[in-house]
Amino acid sequence: MTAPSFRRRAPRGPLVLDIRELGRRAGSMKRVVTQVPAPAELGTEMIHVPSGAPIELDLRVEAVMEGVLVSGTAFTPLAGECSRCLDPIEDDITVDIRELFYYPDRAPDDPEDDSFQVVNDHLDLEPVLRDALVLSLPLSPCCRPDCAGLCADCGARMNDLDVDHAHARVDPRWAALPSLIENPSPNENKNENKEKD
Ligand SMILES: [Zn+2]
Ligand SMILES: [Zn+2]
Repeated sequence: MTAPSFRRRAPRGPLVLDIRELGRRAGSMKRVVTQVPAPAELGTEMIHVPSGAPIELDLRVEAVMEGVLVSGTAFTPLAGECSRCLDPIEDDITVDIRELFYYPDRAPDDPEDDSFQVVNDHLDLEPVLRDALVLSLPLSPCCRPDCAGLCADCGARMNDLDVDHAHARVDPRWAALPSLIENPSPNENKNENKEKD
């Protein structure tokens, strides 16, 4: 006999929690402290969790009336690129997690609703962690707070250069300016002379 259609196949993966032991009695609670390998492509283009890096989970899993509430933290290393100077960055982050997984028979009817569900006594934390992480990551990660970035002209790292680093390159629109300053027009000369008198 095949399983009833509402018994969906339990999700699989390092971030899937088996909650069979928890039961459905509201108030029953379990603490989950574990380390799991990071799935691929967790993060943003600029900064991400290296695939397979250890994610340390410290979670409280609690049965409530409508489902299972998961709260706690995920601590994970990060690797990326400085948005100013493009140097590699290594960092870590603690992400707060708080999510209610509805029991299938308690889930909101709204088809637009994108809340999470308990599937066959399992919770898939991967999409939860993805959402929480992307919101916590810096939009423009920096190798150090005072990173001055790269010289727009030569691409050298500004922090490694002299403070007066500059390129003798004149915008063609201003090319006439130096000669005007050196040779002021005759009218201006007259005015200067008047003031002196
Ligand atoms: Zn930098
Ligand atoms: Zn330069």
